[in-house]
Amino acid sequence: MAENGKNSILRNCKKCNRLFSSVDGSALCSRCSEDADDGFNKVREYIYDNPNSSVKDVSGGTGVSTDVILQWIREGRIVLGDHANISFCERCDAPIDGGRFCGKCVRELAEGLKSGIGANEQKNRSGMHIKEHDRKK
Ligand SMILES: [Zn+2]
Ligand SMILES: [Zn+2]
Repeated sequence: MAENGKNSILRNCKKCNRLFSSVDGSALCSRCSEDADDGFNKVREYIYDNPNSSVKDVSGGTGVSTDVILQWIREGRIVLGDHANISFCERCDAPIDGGRFCGKCVRELAEGLKSGIGANEQKNRSGMHIKEHDRKK
């Protein structure tokens, strides 16, 4: 088992589901983790060169899917600068290109205001500001 002196266990790759021998508790097989690292480096360089880009821009410029980029942002692997044009809806956590709410929530909030429902929610929020870089989620 431990012929090479490292603790390796057999497990299924989280991404491609192939059985592989995992060293260091990695959840991805070597092929997939290479892919991921490659994409991550591209994304990191792209953001470095274009700090104000949206997730869509980054995805288009690197070929990495928006889902993967958003996951890295959530995991904290990609740290957004103060001027980053990427954020998450404060209400439903959907990715948006700036602002505080996604289109769907903006509509729902507007309708809620019109009918009187959601007025309290709106009032509460006005005194509670979440800065992009202090966000826990
Ligand atoms: Zn894999
Ligand atoms: Zn939303």
